[in-house]
Amino acid sequence: MSAHAFEQVVEQSGAQYCPFMPVFGAPQVMFARGRGTELWDTDGNRYLDFLSGLAVTSLGHSHPAVTQAMCAQADTLLHVSNLFANTVAPQAAMKINQLLLETCGREGQVFFCNSGAEANEAALKLARKFGGRGRHAVISAYGSFHGRTLATLAATGQPAKHEPFHPMPDGFRHVVFNDIAALEAAIDPSVSAVLLEPVQGEGGVLPADPQYLRDVRALCDERGLLMILDEIQTGFGRTGEWFGFQHAGVVPDVVTMAKAMGNGFPVGATWATREVAAVFQPGDHGSTYSGTAIAAAVVDAVIDEMRRIDAPRLAAERGAELSGKLAALPGVVGVRGAGLLLAVELVPGLDAKAAYQALLQRGLVTNAVTATALRLAPPLTVSSPEIDEAVAIVAAVLQELLP
Ligand SMILES: *Cc1c(COP(=O)(O)O)cnc(C)c1O
Repeated sequence: MSAHAFEQVVEQSGAQYCPFMPVFGAPQVMFARGRGTELWDTDGNRYLDFLSGLAVTSLGHSHPAVTQAMCAQADTLLHVSNLFANTVAPQAAMKINQLLLETCGREGQVFFCNSGAEANEAALKLARKFGGRGRHAVISAYGSFHGRTLATLAATGQPAKHEPFHPMPDGFRHVVFNDIAALEAAIDPSVSAVLLEPVQGEGGVLPADPQYLRDVRALCDERGLLMILDEIQTGFGRTGEWFGFQHAGVVPDVVTMAKAMGNGFPVGATWATREVAAVFQPGDHGSTYSGTAIAAAVVDAVIDEMRRIDAPRLAAERGAELSGKLAALPGVVGVRGAGLLLAVELVPGLDAKAAYQALLQRGLVTNAVTATALRLAPPLTVSSPEIDEAVAIVAAVLQELLP
């Protein structure tokens, strides 16, 4: 493993200084190749990827069906503007609508974009137009993560992330997660929507209480608010269902998605029920790459493949296996999450960053999602032998780190 991949790339390229803006921490490994759950660094060392990007490559690296669809589309038509149609975007949109129809029973419409933050931006604009003038505020939860653009940062319930960028856009307020009374108290006539993650991913893999989501739904109905669910990390099978909201049996008005829907290709989408989507008119929103053919071909292939292998069921089964084995390890207080979106809470005194480093050194990719918890999100295609191999590495590292 290259100890200082960043310095190495600067050296090797002959650059005088790092060519990137310093918004990310210095990476420690430079990966060259991936296949399924496996990754190889530039020195040829093998790793098990139990993070999948950040819950992105849910079908594993270099999935042949995705590669094939991408290459075939690249060889046919990459892009035409939204002044015209292409043949693949309607197909991909109908597949998303079908998934939502099957999982929440509502007919809806899709807006394609290129990332999670953009999917939430579209949802926030939809909420403002839905509310009308004077009813523009959106309530989200402390500890949430909704993106890095100004509006999605404002929606993100982490005041420390706002600090350098004040003033934040107007119309965002935050409440304690899983506390229905706090949410009810925050509603006034200026509020148009509630925005929540079914499992707070970046916030530490904290699942919403199913009853909380049902109470939020009831409250939104009572007050005429939109219930927007950010399924960017939880969607597409990750939690053991197609969408996180299914665990609570709630019917959202708007769902945002990205990450796994492209398996590494940058794409996102905002879905809304037909009734809600109808508040948008031509010119209200857009994006140069909305529904671009290459991205649509990838989404189409990802959904087909996920259906073929029943990815949600795999996530539920492998997730139960992985969490059960991890929970039994010395040094582990508990495992939380859903399906294959898991956090391993370490015993007091164990530092998650140190554990992450030691795991990486032994060839297991995870991340320290809090100071005391590791996040594990392997591909939904992970095998039982790979789970055993990863658990053995975690066991060895925790034993080494335990006092
Ligand atoms: C990753 C993530 C986002 C932001 O997605 P980008 O593609 O990085 O813009 C938003 N919400 C949630 C829940 C996420 O996990």
